[in-house]
Amino acid sequence: MAKFDGYKDIYVFVEQKDGNIADVGYELISEARKLVASMPEMGFNVVGVLLGSGIKDKAGEVIAHGADKVIVVDDPLLKDYNTQFYADALTQVVNEFKPDSFLTGATVEGRDLAPRVAARLNAGLTADATKIAIDLDKVKDGEALLLVTRPTFGGNLFGTIVCPNTRPQMATIRPKVFDMAPVDETRTGEVIEFAPKWETTEPEVTILEVEPKLAEGIDITKADILIGAGRGAEGSLDYLNEVAKELGGEVCATRAVVEDGFADKAVQVGQTGKTVRPTLYIACGISGAVQHVAGMEKSDFIIAINRDPEAEIFKIANLGYVGKIEEVMPLLVEEIKKAKA
Ligand code: FAD
Repeated sequence: MAKFDGYKDIYVFVEQKDGNIADVGYELISEARKLVASMPEMGFNVVGVLLGSGIKDKAGEVIAHGADKVIVVDDPLLKDYNTQFYADALTQVVNEFKPDSFLTGATVEGRDLAPRVAARLNAGLTADATKIAIDLDKVKDGEALLLVTRPTFGGNLFGTIVCPNTRPQMATIRPKVFDMAPVDETRTGEVIEFAPKWETTEPEVTILEVEPKLAEGIDITKADILIGAGRGAEGSLDYLNEVAKELGGEVCATRAVVEDGFADKAVQVGQTGKTVRPTLYIACGISGAVQHVAGMEKSDFIIAINRDPEAEIFKIANLGYVGKIEEVMPLLVEEIKKAKA
């Protein structure tokens, strides 16, 4: 008999806001598909878990993105994200369906929710991971041990963590580290509606009002072209902005630039910032510290401009230019304008 009899499948928390599903849920479903394909003998499915109010009709979308089954918890108490009811509902889903692994995005919501659920279930959780795999040696013993890798010691090392003693094996995984598989509208799957039994419907915390931000900040994770500002570009930010405008991209920054007060934390790329994968990343005056590179190395094409020919950033760049930012950027603006004329 398998060690964890009754526990099966890889579950993914499908985060949504106002019915709009966050990409990270689909990225995790796509990766979970690869994991189940790597151990066909386990016969695992990929199961999406969708919590919200008035979201039943979104289940088809989740299946089209790769889920075999979707568990829908549709309840007015789950209209907006709140820790208490979301954690209550998700804990009940786990107790009822017994997932072998449970993945959530390492988003603000996922980082709040997953540890609470893990604590209630006394399950192991690896937070903020960047890679997942299955220990294929264990599969022959009927065990789907999840190997979860995350940066550690300030990003200088990567640690792989296993949770062999409890189920489900839980992990929060950063957005944008996995590709989203193409949508397949012809896929079919099972939709299971689950009604939680609320111990109380009295909220511990009451949300009086949800106010949208007056000016929604830019979302660098969605930008196709990013101009990365490093400390060496702090005196040339106008040029960087102009290049971004001309190319239809956005400016992002290293932590050094954020700490120096030249950019908002929301546009920080790296281990303690966002992970981005644009088509083009132009790194301007960026040294290439591992903590920054961790957030942008999966960009399709990287151009680095730095005055130091030995800068680490050149090691991951597809194209490098040794020169001073203040000299190169005006020329770049001019050339782009010429090319567009
Ligand atoms: P610097 O390292 O100072 O490099 C500036 C570069 O600009 C140099 O290569 C220099 O040759 C070049 N330069 C200078 N002047 C010019 C010029 N006029 N023209 C052309 N080139 C010039 N960093 C992040 O970015 N994101 C993170 O999420 C992050 N998380 C971290 C988490 C931890 C736990 C720790 C310890 C650090 C973290 N860091 C992060 C910081 C990281 O280690 C680096 O300090 C930071 O990325 C350096 O930023 P920078 O490249 O802009 O600056």
